[in-house]
Amino acid sequence: MGVAWVLASTSSSPHVATASATVTVPLALSSQDGTSSADASSAGLATTTFEVEVPDVQGKTVRVAGALLAASGLTVQTRVSDVNGFSVVREGVLKQWPAPGARVQNGSVVTLTYQPLLGLASGGRPFVVVVDAGHQAKPDPALEPQGPGSKLMKPKVSAGVVGVVTGGRESSESLAIALHLRDVLLAVGADVVMVRTSESVDISNSERARIGNEAHADLVVRVHQSFSPDGSLAGVTAFYPSGNAWVAGIEAASKDAAQRLEDAVVQAVGAKRRGIVGRADLSGFNYSQVPAVMIECGYLSNRVEDAQMSSEVYRTKLSNGIAAGVMGYLRSL
Ligand SMILES: [Zn+2]
Repeated sequence: MGVAWVLASTSSSPHVATASATVTVPLALSSQDGTSSADASSAGLATTTFEVEVPDVQGKTVRVAGALLAASGLTVQTRVSDVNGFSVVREGVLKQWPAPGARVQNGSVVTLTYQPLLGLASGGRPFVVVVDAGHQAKPDPALEPQGPGSKLMKPKVSAGVVGVVTGGRESSESLAIALHLRDVLLAVGADVVMVRTSESVDISNSERARIGNEAHADLVVRVHQSFSPDGSLAGVTAFYPSGNAWVAGIEAASKDAAQRLEDAVVQAVGAKRRGIVGRADLSGFNYSQVPAVMIECGYLSNRVEDAQMSSEVYRTKLSNGIAAGVMGYLRSL
């Protein structure tokens, strides 16, 4: 899956190599939006030869690395990494050959293997992801219509659920997952709007949806945890808006995103797949004009999953899985 995103992300640039081939780009520095610039000062016309030391450009962006190499009289060749995009989330040069410090003749080719920014749409626009950590420290029992103009009223924000063994709160564990998800998405170049970064907020579900609308989000991701009277229930599910006129325009895209998120999270943490579910009754969906999905990361009523979700390591795996699902959806657009 990571390789597919890599290939898709490079299709707009004639100067960028695919994972299976390399192209030599003498003196033309490629960028991911398809523009390029040439450095005329080192146009390969030198008739004298001399020895240069290869500078260390690992970790730098391809553009900066290319400029440094060109300034040293070297020729730049780029190659897209075939590493999965979420095992390496930073942009930049991962490997260079020859290695830093090698002494080579001027004009020699230096090959840069790099990771493109997967969070950019074709044309270079960052994808916009709104991340909504479910609930908040204190519920708000005041009522709001379940959807625009509805006579059916629901609490603005319900109390989240609580771990049956650890006592961990859904609002704080979902926030921890959401904050890490933000960091992963930012690292691949997406724009991220957080509905909240603190427990001490009072933001109703309709207001949360409006944040997604105003951000013109490509996707809204709502992070939650489940609870059941049956303590044996375990696993991951995703909800998507469905079954009423308010959400008719976003149902198909949201369903696709829900399936991708559930698949990716199940794969990331090895949890049980519970299947995706369309919901007509969630205010946070009914006010949304942009595709939205609620990922239910596991059951706080299950002793094993409760303990897992209190662990930072497990929450990081969950976040990475959600991010992989989000990116799979965005790259399919
Ligand atoms: Zn919840």
